Amino acid sequence: MNNKLYGNLIFELSQEGRRGYSLPKNRFGNYEVPASMRRKEDARLPECDEMTVVRHYTNLSANNFGVDNGFYPLGSCTMKYNPKINEEMAALPQFSALHPLQPAETTRGAEAVCAMLCKQLCELTGLYAFTLKPFAGAHGELTGLMVIKKYHENRGDMARRLVIVPDSAHGTNPASAAVCGLDIIEVKSLSDGTVDVDALHELLAQHGPEIAAMMMTNPNTLGLFEKQIPTIEKMVHEAGGLMYYDGANLNPMLGAARPGDMGFDVMHINLHKTFSTPHGGGGPGAGPVGVRKGLEDCFPMVSPYHGNFAVEMRALTYILTLGRENIKLVGPLATLNANYIKESLKDVYELPIDGLCKHEFVFDGLKDKSTGVTTMDVAKRLLDYGYHAPTIYFPLLFHESLMIEPTENESKETIDGFIQVMRQIAEEAKTNPDEVKSAPHTTPIGRVDDVLAAKHPVVTWRQLVADTE
Ligand SMILES: *Cc1c(COP(=O)(O)O)cnc(C)c1O
Repeated sequence: MNNKLYGNLIFELSQEGRRGYSLPKNRFGNYEVPASMRRKEDARLPECDEMTVVRHYTNLSANNFGVDNGFYPLGSCTMKYNPKINEEMAALPQFSALHPLQPAETTRGAEAVCAMLCKQLCELTGLYAFTLKPFAGAHGELTGLMVIKKYHENRGDMARRLVIVPDSAHGTNPASAAVCGLDIIEVKSLSDGTVDVDALHELLAQHGPEIAAMMMTNPNTLGLFEKQIPTIEKMVHEAGGLMYYDGANLNPMLGAARPGDMGFDVMHINLHKTFSTPHGGGGPGAGPVGVRKGLEDCFPMVSPYHGNFAVEMRALTYILTLGRENIKLVGPLATLNANYIKESLKDVYELPIDGLCKHEFVFDGLKDKSTGVTTMDVAKRLLDYGYHAPTIYFPLLFHESLMIEPTENESKETIDGFIQVMRQIAEEAKTNPDEVKSAPHTTPIGRVDDVLAAKHPVVTWRQLVADTE
């Protein structure tokens, strides 16, 4: 893309009096807008000819990086596959043109889609009923915790206001509990990255009658299977609490194990993480919540209508396209790919927790700490080589977390290419550390001040003008 020729902002290309459109003759006469509602001065709109507009936006779109133009090993995000048949199904006008308020007898097809999806999710998770209403994983957590709160309240057990959350949990877990009006207690992890059962035992001994639930992510945010679930589930249930399964990492469990069979009572599934729908930039998503029998009456109204229908359509299409036999391969292939990358790189990147991982794993930066090259530098350098960066500085358990997740759908050649580049960057860190520390060198924009960008995001042109004037 030639930024100089076509500009970064459409406003910079504006020439007074240029037009890129022509309107038909006004056949309806003039309408007098009341003076009180009229602008005092003209809106500052860009004035450009048609080709300038087309080229500007086409060139901008080429700056997007997505699953359709490169490898995207972002950890803790799972689904990075965008089968085109999903888009075709979601775009069918018979579905996409429906209005949520049209008569029920005209929306039977869409209702059947929702019912079919719920049935598939029940079968895949071993739970009894699902609600499709939540719009994201975090929204699902809140919904699930509302179910749990209601369950205790229905039994007149008002003292249960504590939610146990492992220290390795995603930040949304404690946040959802807080939004639900519950208090959080943290349970520590062992050095192998899994929940410390002895510490949990102490918490339960101390707070037993106040425990509403324990939230667990499995595999956890380190990509590790929580082997102690049977013991943990028993302990929490004996104390009177319910078990909540954060299903963001359900992907490697598909066809291998079901949360319902493990003793969980409530869970959410991030449809956008396990059943396609890439969700870069924060959306779109859907976070259906499943419950065991007896809890389905506690579902709250968390959104109008039927949730994010287009995402549901994609998920159902993905499940039906794979079918009963192929869906069993999802978990094993995702696990194989992640372990292959981990084993191929662990001599040059620090692997704080060794052993078999599931769909993702975490390095703690480069093994050779003497170069001064950080995880941030490695992530930026990857951009020069045409890769999306992995998740960095999450989970918080390590200083230099570099979280890699390839998913099940990448070829061996793609994965080998990534491994080779990661090794090359490790080599550069020794031989030419400044090149890595000043990366990226090939992207339209180099390093931004990420703190300033987060605290003072400038996302409109007007704002930009105001700030620089
Ligand atoms: C992504 C994620 C969430 C939150 O899900 P959203 O759909 O982004 O709201 C919760 N827990 C874990 C472990 C996650 O990875």
